[in-house]
Amino acid sequence: IKQALVKIEKMEVLAQLAASISHEVKNPLTVIKGFLRLLHQENLPVGKREQYLTIASSELNRAEEIINDYLTFAKPDPDQVENISVSEQLHKLADMVEPLSNQQSVLVHKQIEDASIVGNTRSFQQAFLNIMKNAIESMPDGGTLTILSKVQKGTVSISITDTGVGMTPDQQERLGEPYFSTKEKGTGLGLMVSYRIIEAMRGVITVESRVGKGTGFQIVFTVDQVKDPSSI
Ligand code: ADP
Ligand code: MG
Repeated sequence: IKQALVKIEKMEVLAQLAASISHEVKNPLTVIKGFLRLLHQENLPVGKREQYLTIASSELNRAEEIINDYLTFAKPDPDQVENISVSEQLHKLADMVEPLSNQQSVLVHKQIEDASIVGNTRSFQQAFLNIMKNAIESMPDGGTLTILSKVQKGTVSISITDTGVGMTPDQQERLGEPYFSTKEKGTGLGLMVSYRIIEAMRGVITVESRVGKGTGFQIVFTVDQVKDPSSI
């Protein structure tokens, strides 16, 4: 219970992230507004029109991606603390990413043991969704995504492993840093969100990666179950 208390004190993280999102989304919105205003001009050459529409629509996609990285599961009461069934949530997430993995011929392999940890379910989902999405995105030509959880001596270790492009040591060092992205249309915000949530839940993250071989994220949490988490 002591462990759980420490976690709960730290769980305002989702509220904080929700606050920073408005800041992040403002840039693309400002650009969209500007180009919509330009589109109002009469006698605008067709070429210009096309160009402005393309920019506006790509900025809209960007705004959407930022929101997805932060708030896929957001609901009004963001920081409610509850018992999370690791297996239930990992199975749900595997189902969620299935369309994306199918699209890229990625095979999903699951080996999931159950454990109960204390935290906010939606934050947990967001943290692991962002990690799984990156894993799938690292395998544009197909591969295997392995979702594993293992209970051991009062801890549960969750690992998300891919057979994708991998990372150099320099890239690995920058993981979790805001705006670090190697993707043409990346936000560089997904892992920052995951790291903040997992740290707030007192989870320990380890990454192993090799260029051309793949990457494994391992996250270890203390197993705990509290009769009425909301009352603490
Ligand atoms: P984004 O996905 O928008 O680029 P993220 O914060 O989710 O931003 O990820 C940051 C960067 O970390 C990625 O651009 C990529 O370079 C690297 N990365 C994260 N996960 C993986 C992975 N599984 N395999 C290879 N690179 C990864
Ligand atoms: Mg990402």
